[in-house]
Formats: sequence, C-alpha cells, structure tokens
Amino acid sequence: MNPSAATTHLEIAPQGADGRFADLHLHTLFSDGTFTPEELAERGARLGLVAVSLTDHDTIEGCPRMARACASFGVEFIPGTELTSEFDANEVHLLGYFLDPENPKLLAEIKIFQAVRQNRVHEMVGRLNRLNIPLRAETVFQLANCRSPGRPHVGRALVQEGFCESLDEAFDRYLKKNRPAWVPKHRISALESIELIHQAGGLAVMAHPGLNHNDKIIPPLAAQGLDGLECFHTKHTPALSEHYLALAQRLNLLVTGGSDCHGFSKGKPLIGGVKLPAFYLEKLKEARQLRAAQSLPLANSV
Ligand code: AMP
Ligand code: ZN
Ligand code: FE
Ligand code: FE
Repeated sequence: MNPSAATTHLEIAPQGADGRFADLHLHTLFSDGTFTPEELAERGARLGLVAVSLTDHDTIEGCPRMARACASFGVEFIPGTELTSEFDANEVHLLGYFLDPENPKLLAEIKIFQAVRQNRVHEMVGRLNRLNIPLRAETVFQLANCRSPGRPHVGRALVQEGFCESLDEAFDRYLKKNRPAWVPKHRISALESIELIHQAGGLAVMAHPGLNHNDKIIPPLAAQGLDGLECFHTKHTPALSEHYLALAQRLNLLVTGGSDCHGFSKGKPLIGGVKLPAFYLEKLKEARQLRAAQSLPLANSV
C-alpha cells in the first residue's frame, strides 16, 4: 500500500493529541537492556510518560520490580514481554500486554526459552573458539547476569575482552545472521505465542512490523487472533507509522507504540522518543476488559 495515501494519524485519533503519552516497548537488564527496572521507571516519570510497559525478550521477570517502581513514581505500569516467534519461516516478535506475571503456563514456556538461550550462548562461544577467539561462556554469563542472555551480551563480552572494537563490529563480523558465530534462536509459532499470551490474560501485538518488511503475514496473524499492531516504533518513519495505522484500522487491530529502548547499549537511551498517545492506551485497556469479561464464567452457567 502507498503510505502517502494513508489517512493521517490525527484523523484516526483526534483524541490522541492531548499531551498524555505512553512508551510500551522497553527492555531492562532482565534481558539485553542496560537499565534496572527502577532506573527505567524513574526516567519514564521524569519524561512525563503517563504509562510504560516492560517488554523484555522472552521473560517477565522484571515486571514485579518495575510495577513497584512505577507505583512509587506515579506512572501506570503494564506488565509485558516480547516473545520470539515464527510465522511462515519469518521471525516475528510478539508483544504480550497485561500479562499475569504468575501465570504457570507462561512461566513454564519462559523457562524453556531461557534454557535454550543459555545453550545458544555456549554454541556461539564454541563457534568463536573455533575461529581462534578464546572467549569464555562464563564471561558472557557474568556480564549478562540474567536468564535471557542474547547476542548483545556476547557482543559486549567480545568488546570487553578486547576481541572487537565495538558492538557494531562484533555484530558485523560474527553475530549477524549468517555470520560465523550466528546461531538461530528458539522461536515458537506465532499461533502458540498468541494463545500463550491470551491464556495469561494478555493482548498479543506484533512488534515493529516495519522491521519485518513483510506485510503479507499480518492479515493471517490477525485471523489467528492477533490483537494489535505496533504502529509507532523508533525505526518507523512517520510515513511508515501512518501506513501501519491505516492497516490496523482496516484489520480492526489495536494500535500500540514504543521506543524499544535498550538503555545505553546502542548509544543514547531511547525511552520516551516514541510517544504513544494515551488515546490508544485507553483502547487497549477497553479491549482487555472486554476480553476479561468474555472469559469469565456466567453466574448462572454452573
Ligand atoms: P538475540 O535476541 O539474541 O537474537 O539478539 C537480538 C538483539 O540484538 C536485539 O535487541 C537487537 O536489537 C540486537 N541487535 C541486532 N543487531 C544488532 C547490531 N548490529 N548491533 C547491536 N545490536 C543488535
Ligand atoms: Zn533486545
Ligand atoms: Fe524486537
Ligand atoms: Fe524489543
């Protein structure tokens, strides 16, 4: 679709411009971000955000701490995650919002994700060792200090140990897809992710569709129960955001947005750089309430 033909953002959301904004895509050191939940909550408050969500890769472990920190700063908190998923051989990141952080099925799946991520670090380090780079897995784990380690941790360890000058060099030489130390990641099917998120009381949203360069997968995902589309993202140009806003409207999907802040890992912290108008957050909350009401057993049904 031609992005310039899309309806403008303000036509779709006239209520959006009331100066109240949220950032619903953030990472902490529970995955590959560099901030603690407390630091992130404080920054969100300082930036005047009315709500934030924590969406660490394949984990929800940081959510209880972030919830407490946000409460102390008077910022609304939405517990979330970003699940590595797959649709039609494409890697798709599915954001889950309003999750119950104690949901047993979700916790069990996260355990599997994390075990595989830890094995993947060993595999990546093994590949580096075969390239005569004597990095130790233990160094990566110490640096990562979390249960969801990933390529950025391996990259940072390569820089720390003097094997690369920068994180970019580490990715370019070794860690990018099809580079010699790249190891594919565990992904569950998008349908499984959507169901996992739903049964944990959440809404499922496709992250940064603009990075997938494949809009064809969005209608079938919507047919499989996807609830929303991350229209606003750091890597989306205004025209691309407009494009996804129009697509969300056409497919009757909710609209979300966030900065995908990883702290200082890639330069300047991005938190607050993408501002989701609070109007869309209200729509998200309405949908969540409707879902909860639909899944409650009727009083006279027993
Ligand atoms: P993983 O989940 O282990 O596959 O790592 C994915 C993470 O690596 C994401 O947070 C990406 O933003 C980050 N990443 C991907 N490419 C690069 C790059 N060239 N430089 C720095 N970080 C990157
Ligand atoms: Zn990340
Ligand atoms: Fe992502
Ligand atoms: Fe992310």
